[in-house]
Amino acid sequence: MDLSRFARRRYTDFATPIEPMPRFSAALAATCPGGRGPEVWIKRDDMLGLFPGGNKTRKLEFLVADALAQGADTLVTCGAPQSNHCRITLAAAAREGLKCRFVIEERVPGSYHPQASGNHFMFRLMGVETLTVVRAGSDMAAAMQREADDLASQGRRGYIIPGGGSNALGGLGYVACAQELQQQCFDRGLRFDHVVVGSGSSGTHGGLVAGFVGNRIDVPIIGVGVSRDPQQQEPLVLKEAQAVADLLGLQMQIPPEAVRSVGGYWQPKYSLPNARMVEAVQMLARTEGIPLDPVYTGKIMAGLIGLARAGEFAPGERVLFIHTGGLPSLHAFEDVVLGAGGPVAP
Ligand SMILES: *Cc1c(COP(=O)(O)O)cnc(C)c1O
Repeated sequence: MDLSRFARRRYTDFATPIEPMPRFSAALAATCPGGRGPEVWIKRDDMLGLFPGGNKTRKLEFLVADALAQGADTLVTCGAPQSNHCRITLAAAAREGLKCRFVIEERVPGSYHPQASGNHFMFRLMGVETLTVVRAGSDMAAAMQREADDLASQGRRGYIIPGGGSNALGGLGYVACAQELQQQCFDRGLRFDHVVVGSGSSGTHGGLVAGFVGNRIDVPIIGVGVSRDPQQQEPLVLKEAQAVADLLGLQMQIPPEAVRSVGGYWQPKYSLPNARMVEAVQMLARTEGIPLDPVYTGKIMAGLIGLARAGEFAPGERVLFIHTGGLPSLHAFEDVVLGAGGPVAP
């Protein structure tokens, strides 16, 4: 698969590290049937470039290159009040000398606070041009189009990036990740039995599936849902993977069985904490010194832990966890992840 015909900006000039996690694996095994569990490794996409990076950095390399090619002067995007995607898009805009506007969806009513810390603090620090808050369930595409129309009326040019950067072009970022991972495994003689990744707006999971299928990487991918159970999530991911494959001109159907997600770890609601997330965040921090975030990676790792305890991975199998970033929102949930905020949903 040749990505080189797509324009790309580079925001990370190295392959993100792949590291074993022996202490975490031992702690996990102690809670698995028979005291034996998988060997868990991590790919540090939380170390990608921009402020601080995460999975959106990979998508934006292609999306921002396209915006520049189209002569845009302003990026317009959307997300939740603590959106990592908005923060990384804004960082890319700053880096490129572009302006940036957000439409923020208050998915959990009452969750938008103009003085909030975490990502919201960074929105202000990095100088978002406008931030428009809309109610849950609003038509985000229409709201972003209004921003683009407003810019056009001033003789400016906006470039609309969908939520999470998850369209076919953004998904190329995770095709690039699949190729990077394949090369790292080849160079180091490494082989994984499973890959665990988050599954939200689906560009990461879908792009990775397209990259694995297209490059014949025969390792099953499990996407842990952060906002939907498999019945709703898997069709979205399959559609994204197919769109990415079509953009690449692969002339192939993505087999539906290549898309597998698990649910049950994101409840009670997108972005709201639960006890298994808190356990996962504490466990990784205390065994490996690696922070996870409460909205995404804490719940995704809770999924990996739950699957291991359910015997999904054979003892000794190698599981690669993709750390997709999100660390600033940790600071908006400090009491919760320390267990000091009182009981959270089980
Ligand atoms: C956006 C995000 C995800 C989910 O990725 P999608 O491509 O939206 O499915 C996972 N982890 C973090 C930290 C994110 O910010």
